[in-house]
Formats: sequence, structure tokens, C-alpha cells
Amino acid sequence: RTTEPTRISSLPGLVGQQATVSGWVTHTRSSGKVAFVTMRDGTGILQCVVVKPQVSAETWEAFQQLTLECSFSVSGEVKADARAPGGVELGVTELRLIGPSALDYPIQPKEHGVDFLLDNRHFWLRTPRQVAIMRIRNEIEQAIHDFFYERGFLRTDTPILTAAIGERSGLFATEYFDEGNAYLAQTGQLYGEALAAAFGKIYTFGPTFRAEKSKTRRHLTEFWMIEPEVAFNDTHANMDLQEDFVSFLVQRVLERQMPALKELERDVSKLEKVKAPFPRIDYTDAVATLQKKGSAVQWGEDLGAEDEALLVEDYETPIFICNYPKEAKAFYMKENPADPRTVLCDDMLAPEGYGEIIGGSQREDDYDKLLHRIKEEHLPLEAYSWYLDLRKYGTFVHSGFGLGLERTIAWICGTPHIRECIPFPRLMTRLHP
Ligand code: ATP
Ligand code: MG
Ligand code: MG
Ligand code: MG
Repeated sequence: RTTEPTRISSLPGLVGQQATVSGWVTHTRSSGKVAFVTMRDGTGILQCVVVKPQVSAETWEAFQQLTLECSFSVSGEVKADARAPGGVELGVTELRLIGPSALDYPIQPKEHGVDFLLDNRHFWLRTPRQVAIMRIRNEIEQAIHDFFYERGFLRTDTPILTAAIGERSGLFATEYFDEGNAYLAQTGQLYGEALAAAFGKIYTFGPTFRAEKSKTRRHLTEFWMIEPEVAFNDTHANMDLQEDFVSFLVQRVLERQMPALKELERDVSKLEKVKAPFPRIDYTDAVATLQKKGSAVQWGEDLGAEDEALLVEDYETPIFICNYPKEAKAFYMKENPADPRTVLCDDMLAPEGYGEIIGGSQREDDYDKLLHRIKEEHLPLEAYSWYLDLRKYGTFVHSGFGLGLERTIAWICGTPHIRECIPFPRLMTRLHP
């Protein structure tokens, strides 16, 4: 067995000891006899100090061959230094060049346009800001699993190749043997409902695909969605779960990812205010408020990004907009007994103008009403027969929601566009790298 290589993040625990670390060059400078090399390895930044009279000719020669983003390893003594990033620096005794990097490395220490950066996403990911976003993404993903595991949910998976079912956005199709077209899943929800009847409370965490023809700052064509589904939860219990869940995620990032938030210059005082409960506003009241604020929105329409931003500007926590008109929402949402023109649903809007991060609803559990809605929407009945069966054999009150991972990351990180919140974003005009 070999031992795991030492990473920069573990060096503060090794002060006074010898260590060998490997990584990539982000910066070099030399004043003749003393040279400084900054190394990054994805876990941190390390300043390495090379003093010419104290190292071999080979090591000094290797230092001189270093270029931006070449890989190298260094050995030496770990020394405490309050001014250095991470609080330590390395007094180098030996330095080896591993993989040279050509002088035309695309990402230079200067401003680049976003299209150039996206073309070079495989390199852009190496920069401190992107590393911070991906650390926060990882923290949120882990916190999602922890939240549901602690509450006894079963984590389960739903198919990615499906018959034409799901939401109203565009579909990606692919040929499927003699079965005609298969479509990439836009949501796992309908399968989640079947799984909730089998296991009580479940969640899925999977990629979802929508052929979004719009170029907004919040739509990807491939994104990750977390979709819990809970048997015997009504729309109110569903919102309780959502606000507990989102508060938990924000809290976790504040507790464990402060350095990453700092790197992003995130105003954490805004995140500290995110505590349940979140205000629950009826759609009809929201439309009245919007009209007073000068919006042209009419009762019956879904709310767009601008309207959502107008609504959240009066709040410091996320808010729920509840009970949308049925024509603005998907066919599977339960008719509101108090006003059958509307359905028992909610959108959670993030503060600071980030807009919808969750869509949730109580599901229609009445066979006849669901059948009627499927016909009204001209959906292919064959594809939904198994879904209708759930209402025929032991129908049950149930609710669930979908949280968009990248939108949640964008809000928590304070990034204006979600393209930075997934390693390799897929957009209408972008399939590379
Ligand atoms: P929007 O109104 O912004 O188009 P939606 O109402 O179509 O979103 P839902 O079907 O409710 O979206 O999906 C649940 C969640 O998935 C959304 O609240 C959002 O967080 C996320 N989401 C939806 N579409 C996208 C997308 N194209 N890219 C990234 N995230 C998305
Ligand atoms: Mg949409
Ligand atoms: Mg929406
Ligand atoms: Mg929605």
C-alpha cells in the first residue's frame, strides 16, 4: 500500500515537520538569491520559499523552468507564517518539475470575457473563485443527503430515459430501439410518487434535462434536481419541510464554508437572516401587490423573473407564493378545494432577486380529476396509465417538491448567473467543453 499524498490543507497541522506536496504553479518571482513559488492543489494555496545557497543546483534549475500552471512537487520544512495564505509556508529543500506547461496557457492573470472563460472551462475551474463555488456545491450536496437521511427518507433513483412525461419545457429525444423516441427526464417526480407509495418518504437526486430555448441567467439545459415526495403530507406540511430544508442548507454552508464564502466576497449577513418560517403569500395577493408596483402581470399568468424579483424585494428570507391558477401550472397539481380555479402549490423564491428555487405541490389524488386534466392538456394517455393507476389502487394524499441545485448554489454563493454553479454547464449554445 502507498500513503495518500499530503495536501496543502493539511500543512497547518505539520508545522516544524518535513513535508512533500504536489500541485500546480500559480505564480513565481525571484530576487536573484531568493525565489517564491505559489502552489495550488485544489485544497489550498501554498507559498514555497527557495533560497539559492541552501538548495542543490538541480533544484534551482528546476525552479527556473517553472511556468504558469506547470505541475511540480516540493519538499521542505513547514513553517508558521501568519502573513502566508493558510498561515504556513514551505522552506524548500528540493523541487521537481513534473509536467511542463506551454507558455500560452489560456488563462492569464488578467480580466477575460465570460465567453472566453466558458470556452476554457476545463482551465477556468482551476481558479480560486471556481474552486470556492465547487466547494460550496459539494457542501450543499452533502448537506442534502444528511438532511434527508437524518429524517428517515429513502434516497432512490428514477429513470433518465423516459416516455414523454413531465413538465412543459422542451424535450430532448433519442431513438429507442423499436419503441420510438425516448426522452431525457425533465423531472423524476412522477416516478417519485410511485416510490412514495412503496416507501413512505423518498427523495431523488438526479440530473434533469430541458431543452430551454431561452437565454436567461437561471436556465441550463442539464441541471440537478432534488425531489422529495412524502406520503400523507398536505401542501402545508410540504412547505414546512421546504423551509426547514432550505434553512438547513444555508446554515450548513455558513458553518463549514466560511473561507469559500469569503473568497466569493459574499455578504454573509444576508445569509444569516435565512431562518424558517418563510412568509406564505397567496398568488392572488401577490398579483395585486405586483400591479401596485407597476407590473403588467394579469391574474392567470405564471410569474416571470422580474415579477419574482419585485415580490422578494420586501423580504430578507425566501418567500412562498402559493395557490397559482391551474392554467399556469402542471397537470398533476391538486385542485384547491377553497378555489377550484387554483391548485395547491407553491414556488419558493430566494431573496436578493434570485427568484424561484423550488416548485412544490400537493398532487392530485382523485382519479377522475387527474384523468380530466391529462385529457385537457392533450397528453398521451398511454404514457400516463401507470401514473393514473396510483390513484386507482390505494390513492393517498401526498406532496413533494423539486429544488434546483444550481439555482440554490447561485443564490448562496451570490453569483449572478448559474453557469458558474456546475462544472461543465450545458446551455442552448454551448456543448463544449
Ligand atoms: P422556471 O419557471 O424558472 O422556468 P420551472 O417552474 O419551469 O422554472 P420546475 O419545473 O418547477 O421549474 O422545476 C423545479 C426547480 O428546478 C425550479 O424551481 C428551479 O429551481 C429548477 N429549474 C427548473 N428549470 C431549470 C433550468 N432550466 N435550469 C436550472 N434549474 C432549473
Ligand atoms: Mg421552466
Ligand atoms: Mg416556474
Ligand atoms: Mg416551478
